[in-house]
Amino acid sequence: MRCVVCSTLQLQGLTDWHTSCSACGYEGAALSVKINAQPDGAPVDELEREVGLKSLRQENFRDILSVVLKHVKPGARRLLDVGCAHGWFLETARAHFDVLGVEPDSVVGSRTASRGLPVRPGYFPDALTPDESFDVIVFNDVIEHIPDIASALEACNARLSENGLLVLNLPNSRGFFYRLSKIFARLGWRNPFNRLWQKDLPSPHVHYFNPRNLELLVTRHGFVSVYSGQLPSMRKKGLFERIRCTGDISGFSLYLQYFAVLCSIPVLSVFPSDIIFCVFRKAKSGAFRPGVLSAQ
Ligand SMILES: [Zn+2]
Repeated sequence: MRCVVCSTLQLQGLTDWHTSCSACGYEGAALSVKINAQPDGAPVDELEREVGLKSLRQENFRDILSVVLKHVKPGARRLLDVGCAHGWFLETARAHFDVLGVEPDSVVGSRTASRGLPVRPGYFPDALTPDESFDVIVFNDVIEHIPDIASALEACNARLSENGLLVLNLPNSRGFFYRLSKIFARLGWRNPFNRLWQKDLPSPHVHYFNPRNLELLVTRHGFVSVYSGQLPSMRKKGLFERIRCTGDISGFSLYLQYFAVLCSIPVLSVFPSDIIFCVFRKAKSGAFRPGVLSAQ
């Protein structure tokens, strides 16, 4: 398998399904997607986990929207949210844009549509009509699930209007928790590593990028970087609910864990976050230079 960023032959990683690129640091996984394969949709514990993450996601979505509004061209109206899931970003953005969501998981998508949000079932870009284009295309925790990421980025370029924005938020391979999980995996405890790749879930991650190799990949597909930052993977608000939803703990140990995590938040802010957030602008046709990056 060659690296999707720089085409270097990838090396075997920490498990038989994990690979890494010695040249650019990209990491990949040979994990297969099984969306809609289960008759009852996503397993219950996964839905519970999502509810636990709602508060964090909503706060992060407000931060994303404020950056988008700073960079979007005047008069931009149409926004597409690829893999919109529960529609939380659609709800955040619809005061400023004509929003549309696309969601491949039929159970999650129909539940979101039943709340009156504009969601179309299926995958990007197949779920769109041939003439549909957008001023902003957003992938919230989605692009790392798409095996043929090069085709997805080309489709984004084709579906964006002139000076349109591509907005990505995704896991960071330089993040504190991911790097910690790799240390544990090397020591023989693979659960956190498997969990961060979402192994054995209907839609596992198949890519892990850092800000630098992500920019290298995206700018090669006709985009220029306009914003690169990170989002917190822990926030005080909603933390208790999140911990309560994550495991089978209760009573005193639940409060103890909550207090321990609460105290760790200021410490964690010193390390790179586990969430990359970046915005790219569609380059004028023929104006972009492929893969020119400053050294980090
Ligand atoms: Zn590479």
